[in-house]
This record gives sequence, structure tokens and C-alpha cells, in this order.
Amino acid sequence: AAEEGFDLEEVAGDVAAAGHGPLPVLAVVGRPNVGKSTLVNRIIGRREAVVEDRPGVTRDRVTYEANWNGRRFKVVDTGGWEQDVLGIEASVAAQAEFAIEAADAVVLVVDSKVGATDTDEAVVKLLRRAGKPVVLCANKVDGPSGEADAAVLWSLGLGEPYPVSSLHGRGTGDLLDAILEALPEAPAQSFGEPAGGPRRVALIGRPNVGKSSLLNKVAGEERVVVNELAGTTRDPVDELIQLGGETWKFVDTAGIRRRVHLQEGADYYASLRTAAALEKAEVAVILIDASETLSVQDTRIISMAVDAGRACVIAYNKWDLLDEERRYYLEREIERDLVQVQWAPRVNVSATTGRHMEKLVPAIETALAGWETRVPTGRLNGFLGELVAAHPHPIRGGKQPRILFGTQAGTRPPRFVLFATGFLEAGYRRFIERRLREEFGFEGTPVQVSVRVRE
Ligand code: GDP
Ligand code: GDP
Repeated sequence: AAEEGFDLEEVAGDVAAAGHGPLPVLAVVGRPNVGKSTLVNRIIGRREAVVEDRPGVTRDRVTYEANWNGRRFKVVDTGGWEQDVLGIEASVAAQAEFAIEAADAVVLVVDSKVGATDTDEAVVKLLRRAGKPVVLCANKVDGPSGEADAAVLWSLGLGEPYPVSSLHGRGTGDLLDAILEALPEAPAQSFGEPAGGPRRVALIGRPNVGKSSLLNKVAGEERVVVNELAGTTRDPVDELIQLGGETWKFVDTAGIRRRVHLQEGADYYASLRTAAALEKAEVAVILIDASETLSVQDTRIISMAVDAGRACVIAYNKWDLLDEERRYYLEREIERDLVQVQWAPRVNVSATTGRHMEKLVPAIETALAGWETRVPTGRLNGFLGELVAAHPHPIRGGKQPRILFGTQAGTRPPRFVLFATGFLEAGYRRFIERRLREEFGFEGTPVQVSVRVRE
């Protein structure tokens, strides 16, 4: 029986809201120096999106969560593109293209002091063709005298220009209202229930690990023409692929196939792609080049998948290149550097030879099953009761926090809330997570455990 004073449904709702449910995505695009990063900082209300003096600096994070009037959405900052390599025109066009593919709505930022340039006009054309809602931000209107400059931007044909000072905050409330109006309640590719549609797979990994090779291998001749399949969205950036007798939707394959050869900035581009693909997918197949030492970028991509709460499969590619020695060191690396995903099923493949391709689907299915596991409250509390009796929380300062009961607040991934009489230390929470995994499986999925302290 539940302890009094807690409304389980309310708690479940709370936790689901704080979890990784589907959020609509807003992309902020515009020329360099118009104030995109400054605006993103305004929108997220924190100084998290670092405004860099140097363009093209790799940033770890590219999507941020924002909340305006209780509505939550994701903001993608495209400000880090390397315009020195691409040239300003191409860089801004690439941003817009990305935004069109990945976002539910777009904010085009224009420097009202400069006015609309040819580059701005070109972006408007791209955006208009895509048909995604666009909100026009006339930035750097720091006072009433700048409003006239903003009004001139009606000429872009995107409707009302919102006069804003991202730096001082002036006008950002109205802009945010317009943004919320433009954003759908739930993203176009909603999690919803599976509803018989194909499961969504993101194939991710740093450049050159073999993503497009693997894609070509698995797609083979069996690629399905998208609109042949009833009830599937005709998103040209995704691909339906038949594997193991089932149809899977590989998301954002256009981004994998259209290889971008940048030197600097390539990491950043890859991070954006990864974030966008993860946003749409249920399960991530994380590709790692087994022939090379695990890199920081590999582990960052793994973290992105885990943080996004996706089911995960680790695929070691280029297995054909491994000799005895490398294999020995690889095992050590996995033990040392991949502890954070030791629960993920692992397959050792070769996109070149086709080795172990048939193991991919069972691994994906295992991960998805773990991701959707629901533990009945009775069973969970039976387990917790025994666990806590056998391994009580260590006594701290004469006090010993006690777990009263727990509930699974959500799935995809599994989220648990434990109610306790006091703060549970991190080590003990990890211990509980480990025991939860031993007891209930959860192979291939992150598991989130949060604690509510009962006053
Ligand atoms: P991004 O390259 O588009 O991301 O532009 P940044 O956000 O880095 O801003 C470029 C420069 O414009 C910085 O020096 C900002 O401080 C400045 N800036 C941004 N927004 C405003 C604004 O509303 N008013 C004024 N006066 N300056 C701004
Ligand atoms: P992406 O950037 O992740 O899409 O990587 P690509 O698919 O373009 O592959 C990068 C390079 O690795 C190409 O030269 C591929 O031929 C090569 N490659 C990909 N998979 C394998 C593999 O399993 N074995 C070997 N030996 N080479 C591979």
C-alpha cells in the first residue's frame, strides 16, 4: 500500500515531465554576429550557450532545453558553424538546411542595424520552400529608435519582424510568444505509442567510423520506397530499411549520406546531426571504429545517447582490421572507458565484409525491450523491501535514511522514483540501480532513479 501523502499519478506526471519526453525543436539561424548565441542565452534564461569569440569552436552541447510560460521545447544553437571553411554563404545555407530537416520551427535572426543582406534573402528562400514555420527576429533593437529599422524587414516577406534586443532582453517576451505559437505541441515525429509504425533507429558515431558504409550494407537492394508503405511519414531525410524480416526507419540518413568534408567545425556539424537524430529516434546504434583507440568524441557521442534517454546498442565496426594485439587492448579499453554503457548490447561488425550484420537486429530488439520494460509496483516494492532489509543505507551523522517505497514513473527509458525519509547518497543510489538491473534486466537502456525526500 502506498504511504499516505503521495499522489502517485501526480508524481508520475511530474517525473514524466522532467524526463525525456518528446519536445518540439526550435532552430535559431542567421548570419554570423547577428546575435544568435545571445538570443539562445536569452531563450534558455541561462548563460549556458557560450558566446565564443572564435568562430567554429567545438561546443559540447548544441541543444538546450527551454521553458516559456510552462511550455517546454528544445533550442538548437547553430551558431558554431565554421564559416571560415565553408564561407559565410554556404555556412548559413547549411544551417538553414539543417534547421529545415531537424526543427519544428525556425527563428531567423537578422541584425536590424545592418538590414537584410543577400545572404539573409537567400536563407529566406530556403526556409520558405521548406514550409516550416518561421519567426523573424529583428535583433539589436536596443531602444525605441531602432524600431523603424525592424519594420524595414517586412520586406523579407516572412510576416511581422519582432524587434528584439537579445542583449538587454527588450521584446523577447513577444518573440517567445510568437515562437510558442509557431511550435507544435508535440514534435512532428511524436513518440506516442508505436502504433504499428516502423521503429526508429539512429545510426550515430564520429566521422569515418563507417556509418554510411554500414547503411549501404544493411540497405542493400532492399530499400523500401517510403511512400509505398502506408502510414509512414514521407520524410526524405529518413530511410526505411528491411532488416531481419522487419522494416526499420533509419532516421536522418540523408545527413549520413551527404558527407560534409570540413576540417575545423566538422565535429560541431557531427554533434548537431547526432543531437537531431537522437531526438527523433527510439534506439541508437552507436558505431565505434574498433581499429582505433576510443576517442573523446566517441565517449561524448555515447553520453549524448544516454543523456537523451535512448535505447543503445554499441557496434564495433571495422572488425576485419583487428589483429590479436589490438583486440587485447580493445577489451581493456572497453572495461575502462565504457563502464557508463556496460549494460548496452555489443556487436562486433564489419561493414566491409558484412561480418555479424545479422546480429544487429537482435541487439536492437533487446535494447528496445529493455527500454520499454515496466515493473509492476508490487514486484518493485517486494524487491526494494528485501534489498533495503539486507543492505540498509549507511548511517550518516546518526541518521539513517530509509526507503519507504518506490514506483516506476515511466518507461522509454525506465524511470523510477524512490520515496525516502532522507537524502540517499550517490553511491547507494548507484547500488540500487545496479541491483535493479540485476533483478529486472534493462539490457540496452539507461535507467533513471530519482529520490523524493518525505519531509
Ligand atoms: P552569433 O554569431 O549570431 O551567434 O552572434 P553573437 O550572439 O555571438 O553576437 C554577436 C555580437 O553582437 C556580440 O558582440 C553580441 O554582444 C552582440 N549582440 C547580440 N545581440 C545584441 C543586441 O540585441 N544588441 C546589441 N547592441 N548587440 C547585440
Ligand atoms: P562515416 O563517415 O561514418 O559515414 O564513414 P564511412 O562509411 O564513409 O567510412 C569511412 C572509411 O572507413 C571508408 O574509407 C570506408 O571504406 C571505411 N570502412 C567503413 N567500414 C569499414 C569496415 O568495416 N572495415 C574496413 N576495413 N573499412 C571500413
